[in-house]
Amino acid sequence: MKYIPVIGLEIHAELKTKSKMFCDCLNDPEEKEPNTNICPICMGHPGTLPVINNKAVKFVVKTALSLNCQIPESSRFDRKNYFYPDLPKAYQISQLYAPLSVKGFLSINGNKIRIKEIHLEEDTGKLNHLQGENSSLVDFNRAGRPLMELVTEPDIVSGEEARRFCEELRLIFRYLNVSEANMEKGQMRCEVNISLGLNKKKLGTKVEIKNLNSFRAVERSVNYEIKRQADLLDSDDKVIQETRGWDENKQVTFSQRTKEGAQDYRYFPEPDLPPLTNMSKVSAKASSEIPELPQAKRERFLDEYKIPQSDIDVLVSNKNLADYFEQVISELKTWLKIKSIGDKQALVKLTVNYLLTELQKLLIDDGLKIEKCKISPENFAEFITLIEQKEISSSAAQTVLKEMLKTGADPSNIVDDKELKQVSDKDALSKIAKQVVSDNPKPVKDYKEGKESALQFLVGKVMAASKGQANPEIARELLKKQLD
Ligand code: ADP
Ligand code: MG
Ligand code: ZN
Repeated sequence: MKYIPVIGLEIHAELKTKSKMFCDCLNDPEEKEPNTNICPICMGHPGTLPVINNKAVKFVVKTALSLNCQIPESSRFDRKNYFYPDLPKAYQISQLYAPLSVKGFLSINGNKIRIKEIHLEEDTGKLNHLQGENSSLVDFNRAGRPLMELVTEPDIVSGEEARRFCEELRLIFRYLNVSEANMEKGQMRCEVNISLGLNKKKLGTKVEIKNLNSFRAVERSVNYEIKRQADLLDSDDKVIQETRGWDENKQVTFSQRTKEGAQDYRYFPEPDLPPLTNMSKVSAKASSEIPELPQAKRERFLDEYKIPQSDIDVLVSNKNLADYFEQVISELKTWLKIKSIGDKQALVKLTVNYLLTELQKLLIDDGLKIEKCKISPENFAEFITLIEQKEISSSAAQTVLKEMLKTGADPSNIVDDKELKQVSDKDALSKIAKQVVSDNPKPVKDYKEGKESALQFLVGKVMAASKGQANPEIARELLKKQLD
């Protein structure tokens, strides 16, 4: 393609504070009954005054610092004036002239995507358009909830990169515990701006895409729009500046409204709120509360545990899972009395496999999450050593794991109670093997005539005779010896 895609994002995230942005109404995204969490302040009654929610300010500062942004020493709120039925004050308190944070970046696969600013504002209410009726209802529960807006510079180059940027942001929001950032629930909303240029200097006319409610939709709508705009330019048509929506069923963008010049919101400094000052103090406090972030964790995991990148990505994609994994590793280290697990590759690999495949499978079946899992990291570590030391077979391991998940019991107790200990004792197994050989003349004959699969059948018989407790490798070895 002869055009260069230029993409910038505007992302809103609802903050997870207890109360709303400027009043003490509950900030509860799960509230089903309309117009419950409202008061004269968020309903815009005359004579009321807003009060800044400091927790919301701190959440934005934490996010901004995590994204390498600068926090000016003071900032300010502004009024954005417009009329809409979901906006009771007929203005939204937002930030335009002096936002909370500016000039950051987030790298995606080595491409540094600059962040222009992250500011704080209040959410609007919600309109419910009644099916088949000529009217709409308005629910103000959402009005006045704290909303963080992040604006990037147009540094993104593809649909995939746009999606990855949004996914990484969501992960950071969750690590910081500032937003649930669930796209389907509207807690995170992404708007895409996209244009095609002939070179890096001269930008083309941009189109804005709204109503994207999944990461997949972000990627696909960008790809669709690149193609649509390229086709227009190829046939000497013009791209017009407009807002487009995304049709999930047809997988196409469609025109919503054309922008004739910039809208004038008559922004002016909010006279009812004091400026935010002494931000370096707020920053210092917020900074001390930032945990290790996903990218740093990925790099450290690779260095410390030497596991495949794909496993690292899965572990890091859920902070609780990553924490659980490290607690298990730490128990293993205590157990083995070692400082570094780096040269115990088999053990680390076993832990990752049982955590990411076996345990995850059971958790998904039960609709459970790792943070609600009954298995303590200590018990999980003990379970791993039982497998590694061949105390239990891999099929017994399945039984033990299921039982641990159900009761939270100690794995060695389960092994004792259910008689699952693997028998590797050669004398005991030899006896069983002898019996199996004399009880099964036909397969024995088959094996001696060269039918290899008959041996597997005999191993199965030893397993059955030992109620599944025989070590299959040793059983096979003993049978072979006797037959040969
Ligand atoms: P507006 O005033 O139209 O909202 P902004 O300058 O605030 O425009 O930018 C909004 C978003 O659009 C930002 O994410 C920015 O990176 C992006 N953007 C700006 N110009 C372009 C362009 N020519 N092509 C693609 N995205 C752009
Ligand atoms: Mg804008
Ligand atoms: Zn209120």
